[in-house]
Amino acid sequence: MEHDYQFDTMAVRAGQDRTCEREQAEPIFTTSSYVFRNAAEAAAIFSGQQPGNIYSRFTNPTVRTFEKRLAALEGGERCVATASGMAAILSCCMALLDAGEHIVSSRAIFGSITVLFNEHLKRFGIETSYVAPTELEAWEQAIRPDTRLLFVETPSNPTAEIADIQALSRLAQKHGCLLVVDNCFCTPALQRPLTMGADIVIHSATKYIDGQGRSIGGAVVGRGELLDKVFGFLRTAGPSMSPFNAWIFLKGLETLRLRMEAHSSNALMLAQWLERRPEVERVYYAGLPSHPQHELARRQQLAYGGVVAFELRGGQEAAWRLIDSTEMISITANLGDTKSTITHPATTTHGRLTPEARLDAGIGDGLVRIAVGLEDITDIKADIERGLIGWTLPREGADRERV
Ligand SMILES: *Cc1c(COP(=O)(O)O)cnc(C)c1O
Repeated sequence: MEHDYQFDTMAVRAGQDRTCEREQAEPIFTTSSYVFRNAAEAAAIFSGQQPGNIYSRFTNPTVRTFEKRLAALEGGERCVATASGMAAILSCCMALLDAGEHIVSSRAIFGSITVLFNEHLKRFGIETSYVAPTELEAWEQAIRPDTRLLFVETPSNPTAEIADIQALSRLAQKHGCLLVVDNCFCTPALQRPLTMGADIVIHSATKYIDGQGRSIGGAVVGRGELLDKVFGFLRTAGPSMSPFNAWIFLKGLETLRLRMEAHSSNALMLAQWLERRPEVERVYYAGLPSHPQHELARRQQLAYGGVVAFELRGGQEAAWRLIDSTEMISITANLGDTKSTITHPATTTHGRLTPEARLDAGIGDGLVRIAVGLEDITDIKADIERGLIGWTLPREGADRERV
């Protein structure tokens, strides 16, 4: 089955290739290699004259089912699954860039990607310039004759800046570059960048595609000719996805749209409630009409996702007090889980940035990020309200057993 079914149908069925056992659910192929009927078949498959599996660093049936399903949901020709989201962006860069080429990136991207660009790719002469994701003119000004990739994450983490994918894809086309979009926060359930002109979508499947905080994985999706190059790097270098993780992500895709809708509706209710609280200076959530790119988000996304950030009036002290006062919400920097999580970006995920860079990215000391889970919104609000009004100050040094 290919791309002519509706999204929800593809989410549960695309890519399935039943074996002779006629299984209903997709099996996990825990095998490192595959056997051939005879020497001639081995030679034909090794030479590429005949399709077939050789070794699970290259291909694995469970991984292939996941790849086909995610490609169908993103509207891409081909997907290559990777060991992590970072392996996805690394594979993209290694496959599509040559030494001495240049990247223009949004400055509001996942922290480890900034380190990859600034420290590791730099050693191969690949330079990166950073711009505000929302300022189209800055993107255009930063493009040089040797620019090969434009890289953007939208909505951004944690302050939900929305980049205009269509406008950036036109810019990429005009200057002969490729537009790579990190679609981790929306997933194809809420936003399909390839249908808006992006060349490549990358994912950390670790987040919403898994959806229950169990495993690390990633993916690259796009046109066949680009993905052939990404696959060429992956099969040689080896940051491949394990079949067990592929099976988890496959099951995650089946409920992805329902979960993303539930995350989004809980997050919107929380954002609206926070916006009315006197303790809160500002709420960052693209679903609020007060958000500067609300209209763009409405055009580009089906809903606004599960991540809400807000600046408290009392700075770091108020932020830490709120975090320490929660009893249910998990204190962790991960996101995309059924369980709500809370973090203080300035001292965790964005702690490695200089104070100026943090300020420039809108990450104040009072900023708190909540990745809203699927618990009842009444309980989520109650857990936060306790810390907002500060009537149960945490016991000194107490690490409470959390539910
Ligand atoms: C987590 C994350 C990544 C990296 O993915 P890993 O699976 O942790 O390697 C990349 N981009 C975004 C937006 C992320 O949140």
